[in-house]
Amino acid sequence: MKLIIKYFSLTSLMLLFLNANICAQIYTTTKVDAKVKELLSKMTLEEKVGQMTQVTIQAVSKVQGTKDQMHQLDEAKLEEAIKKYNVGSILNVYDIAHTAEYWHEILNKIQNIAVKETRLGIPVFYGIDAIHGATYTKGSTLFPQSISMAATWNTEIAEQSGEITSLETKASGISWNFYPVMDIGRQPLWSRLWETFGEDVYLASQMGSSYIKGAQGDDMSAPNKLATCLKHYVGYSFPINGLDRTPAWISERMMREYFLPPFEAGILAGSPSVMVNSSEVDGIPGHANYHLLTEVLRNELNFKGLVVSDWEDIKRLHTRDGVASTPKEAVRISVMAGVDMSMVPYDFSFYDYLLELAKEGTVPMWRIDEAVSRILAVKMQVGLFDNPYPNKELLKDFAKDEFTAINLNAARESIVLTKNENNILPLSKTTKVLVTGPTANMLSVLNGGWTITWQGNEETAYPQEKNTVLEAIQNKIGSENVNYVEGTSFDKDINTSKAVTEAKNSDVVVICLGEPAYCETPGSIFDLTLNKAQLELANKIIETGKPVILVMLEGRARVITDIAQNAKGILVGFLPGMEGGNAIADILFGDVNPSGKLPITYPRSSNGITLYDYKPIEKFDGNDYKPLYPFGFGLSYTTFEYSNLKISSQEITENDELIVKIDVKNTGNRAGKEVVQLYLTDMYGSVTRPNKQLKAFEKVLLNPGEIKTIEFKLDKQHLSFIGQDNKRIVEPGDFKVTIENHTVNFGLK
Ligand code: BGC
Repeated sequence: MKLIIKYFSLTSLMLLFLNANICAQIYTTTKVDAKVKELLSKMTLEEKVGQMTQVTIQAVSKVQGTKDQMHQLDEAKLEEAIKKYNVGSILNVYDIAHTAEYWHEILNKIQNIAVKETRLGIPVFYGIDAIHGATYTKGSTLFPQSISMAATWNTEIAEQSGEITSLETKASGISWNFYPVMDIGRQPLWSRLWETFGEDVYLASQMGSSYIKGAQGDDMSAPNKLATCLKHYVGYSFPINGLDRTPAWISERMMREYFLPPFEAGILAGSPSVMVNSSEVDGIPGHANYHLLTEVLRNELNFKGLVVSDWEDIKRLHTRDGVASTPKEAVRISVMAGVDMSMVPYDFSFYDYLLELAKEGTVPMWRIDEAVSRILAVKMQVGLFDNPYPNKELLKDFAKDEFTAINLNAARESIVLTKNENNILPLSKTTKVLVTGPTANMLSVLNGGWTITWQGNEETAYPQEKNTVLEAIQNKIGSENVNYVEGTSFDKDINTSKAVTEAKNSDVVVICLGEPAYCETPGSIFDLTLNKAQLELANKIIETGKPVILVMLEGRARVITDIAQNAKGILVGFLPGMEGGNAIADILFGDVNPSGKLPITYPRSSNGITLYDYKPIEKFDGNDYKPLYPFGFGLSYTTFEYSNLKISSQEITENDELIVKIDVKNTGNRAGKEVVQLYLTDMYGSVTRPNKQLKAFEKVLLNPGEIKTIEFKLDKQHLSFIGQDNKRIVEPGDFKVTIENHTVNFGLK
């Protein structure tokens, strides 16, 4: 029985997710407020409604850009959009990455019209999905995707990727990035799992906040900084059937326990915009959810920035969801729920309807003024009013060699070694290797969606100077030591029998399997198990008796249990980005010691999707958490020993801090990085408590024989959870700290 139950506010919880040095941006300064007020007072209703309208560049283009054809703006349409409809924002690309110089041309044209040819000269806010680098600018530095970033467990790397991505996006003239994704990846089938920082609330909050810190710095109006956007608020990542844009059923309590905290962390880190969940939670579409968009986001989380809809989703309240009987009603519902800007994106229907609604008074003026003030404030904070034009100076830093080196380091730290039977890895550089499988010789499989194109699968548009896994292995050990046979495509046999014959002439076979590049709904699948053709390729090669190393390049953990048990070594690469091929070769041949850890549970079977922070009942009466590889797991070429787990007190009060210390020693013979992970178990609670939850981690480099003492601090925030009445509480009782295989208990008075 718990005698005392303490409540505390959501905002105090936010502190839990931030590094001490992440300083929140105060983006609504008094100065900006005054300027916004003044500008607003001069605006007509039409100008205000225009600011709330966002169209795709496709809507103002004559010719689509492809790898063979140059994109062309439709200047008459562009003028119409900006001068007649007063649009406040344009987004995206149509349809392939441009050079930075061509982006300058586009942005100069847009801003010239907006600034010089409109009554008030309000610049356009250009937004883009620069999700793992400046994805739509040719030659940009393309980092590991979020799932791989999370696998580094290195917040410094997340911060660096934020810094470089901002610089290169800004160098392209664009000052709004629709990233980071703060949804947590708790549905293993979901086609956007790789856009998340994995299944854990704490890890995702840390990685996302660090990214924002790098991207925005202390002043997002600095030449090399921009505005980030937290997406997709909230609950989008948990579709019950695993298909993209399908319903989630998330109770208020679970929403507050799992899905809201990463957004809270992003808000505290200073992100000035939020994009709405494209789907629905508990039967209420994201874009119609007043409770989440206004009561929670504004009133509880104190979010001051702008809320933008997702693609065409306001219309879909009528055309798809049927919660609005007309498209006009859809506009009213979403604006009154709390959406400030509509990603319409092809036409001006939102503008026309909102104008009518405002004139009728069904959308009150205060609501329009509120939305427009937020939009103008963000435009001011990001520096658009000071200089709306692309900055040529930044081009000299675009995709510098130094950035490639940072990217390579990120990729190296992201690769997870999950099996290494009898230390088969690293391989000697004189090994005769057969390389086979559908992901061996493609760059797109290293990068995934949102790379050069939306789906990321335009292989011939990739920078050919970058290395696939095959090319990187050839560079590493010489082409004479490497034989290559395709084996299979993603789903069909090509020449498996040839691969089997060639396997017999090799010392080792590196089989590269996984998924093609995909993004959003086109990436939906109905079975997590890896395609049969690929499993057969691996099984037939395994039958030859030659040692097999599997390299998995995939956006989600495809089930490989059938082949994993007979492979000698396994690298899970997820989507390690443009330097991923080099990083994999570095690890296979021992130039780099792997240090990635899984940011998700790797399932053993398609239905075995219990996550690491399971409830007691999930490991009871025959139920079990028995994944192929657990969350947080990853091997190294060296060994680490943990000892001396100590806590500062056996019993604390809720005002105390508990200091936890542990010694970690590198007991092997090469330097390596280890991720020290602290998990907390609340032994008894008024709602069921997870088996364990990650509450702190630190990645440390240790030389052979070196010992470091790692110190963590826990306070009441870490001990808290969402109680039966949906409020955050802390309950006295017994807790257990686990670090690796050591545990210690303490009590809260
Ligand atoms: C996606 C968003 C993206 C937007 C703009 C939507 O389909 O869900 O993540 O930011 O398109 O490209």
